[in-house]
Amino acid sequence: MKRVYNFSAGPSMLPLEVLELAQEEFLSYQGSGMSVMEMSHRSSLFSGIIDEAERLLRDLMDIPNTYKVLFIQGGASQQFAMVPMNLLVKSRKADFVHTGSWSKKAMSEAKKFGQVRVVASSVDEHFTYIPHVNFSLIDPEADYVHITTNNTIEGTAFSEIPDTGGIPLVADMSSNILSEEVDVSKFGLIYAGAQKNIGPAGLTVVIVREDLMGHAPESCPTMLNYQTFSESGSMYNTPPTFGIYIAKLVFEWLSNLGGLKEMGKLNRAKAQILYDYLETSDLFESPVKKDSRSLMNIPFMMPGRELDDVFVKEAKACGFETLKGHRSVGGMRASLYNAMPIEGVKELVAFMADFEKRYKRLGF
Ligand code: PMP
Repeated sequence: MKRVYNFSAGPSMLPLEVLELAQEEFLSYQGSGMSVMEMSHRSSLFSGIIDEAERLLRDLMDIPNTYKVLFIQGGASQQFAMVPMNLLVKSRKADFVHTGSWSKKAMSEAKKFGQVRVVASSVDEHFTYIPHVNFSLIDPEADYVHITTNNTIEGTAFSEIPDTGGIPLVADMSSNILSEEVDVSKFGLIYAGAQKNIGPAGLTVVIVREDLMGHAPESCPTMLNYQTFSESGSMYNTPPTFGIYIAKLVFEWLSNLGGLKEMGKLNRAKAQILYDYLETSDLFESPVKKDSRSLMNIPFMMPGRELDDVFVKEAKACGFETLKGHRSVGGMRASLYNAMPIEGVKELVAFMADFEKRYKRLGF
């Protein structure tokens, strides 16, 4: 069976070992005669899965025990609303760092619940860099500061987590959670849709400091209140059971690999291969400022646009899937999430170098 190198921004590649194990266990999980999809979420078998998923995630990210891990549905987009519904409740003011399409969406939801202020933005240069967050500009009364640690579409990432003093820092980590070590204690709340580094779409992971929960107004719907998930171990209703099972397998895979320290080293090595080539290429270039470059999502451009479709089509024919850039940025984009093997990047770069040679000969 042929597998491709899938450079999709999400849903994206999962580790082959995880897919194979899931396949092996698909019809009868641990001799139960049932698929995980078919078993009661209240069964001891499933409790074992969700408890182990949480334990592994805590271990991987070194999550302090003053934080809860919640498994929710609705994607990261639902968190754009859940965060303000639960946290924008005291001064009802929030400060946002505006770094692209996703921070814009997060802000427009938050505006429905309170006052939103942009404290730093890179809109002036089409979001090609991460702006400096000046601590003195943060409103000391703000309920929280929101950042998008990795901007999936624009290909930028925070290399340093801004210091917000005592103001809780909320992070959309959808596209770089688990990609390298991170100090969870710097954040009040972290959220991430699963479909990049965690597992299948349909599951959202929220890591939240306990003291930030329990302040939502009475009118907050039960299923949008973090407290509901916290008090029930994410089992108030039927959770996305299969997604949680695959996430557990991914967490096991990551632990066996040596955890986030090793994963970070590997991700840096992978991204470096592509960035190094982009630096030397006469045909392709990165639109992103050097100090703001993402390890996970790497957009690249050619001078004209006329070869873009040819490139994407030829690449697909050679087994390099979904390299078309996001429509708001154009060009191409390679997403190198955890499950992308280093060979995939090396082979992509070899393909790009060959493409460059061939088209340069034609006068491009
Ligand atoms: N935030 C970021 C940084 C993303 O990359 C995405 C999805 N690509 C989202 C939010 C939205 O996620 P979802 O589709 O899970 O709602």
